[in-house]
Amino acid sequence: MFIILKAISVILFADFITGLIHWMEDSYWSPETPILGKWIVEPNLAHHKNGQEFLKKSWLESSWDLLIAGLLIIFAAYWANCLSWEIWLFAVIIINANQIHKWAHITRYENKPQIIGFLQKLYILQSTEHHGKHHRKPNNSHYCTVTNWINPILDKLHFWRGLEKVFG
Ligand SMILES: [Zn+2]
Ligand SMILES: [Zn+2]
Repeated sequence: MFIILKAISVILFADFITGLIHWMEDSYWSPETPILGKWIVEPNLAHHKNGQEFLKKSWLESSWDLLIAGLLIIFAAYWANCLSWEIWLFAVIIINANQIHKWAHITRYENKPQIIGFLQKLYILQSTEHHGKHHRKPNNSHYCTVTNWINPILDKLHFWRGLEKVFG
């Protein structure tokens, strides 16, 4: 039982991290931001306009940067002698965060692997309807893209608006 609770905590923490990065992209970075502007912000803005466009990209095209980030986490943990299954799980979710996001954009269950549709119906992976709430104007809620669980809590607590007050 304890191991399941631990796994859930890791998944929710990884989900929170995706939201935190996404919130920074949407709130503070612009196409003029050095390096990040062209690499992350422009595709992000295009994605807000047309949610289906990025489905044309392969897994690697969408996830190469997350793959590097995940591998860095794994190597850092290995060097620090603290590589555990929890770190592996966290890294695997981060590496696939954009893929999970892509699955949420595939509206027809027939067009995605059956297991993914099943996990979405269980809300273990984020559902299409849930992610759609971020794509509605003014696009300032539901930043987390992995599950359906963290967003309602953070949005109810006005967590992102609070962070914006702190950071200005
Ligand atoms: Zn966004
Ligand atoms: Zn999206």
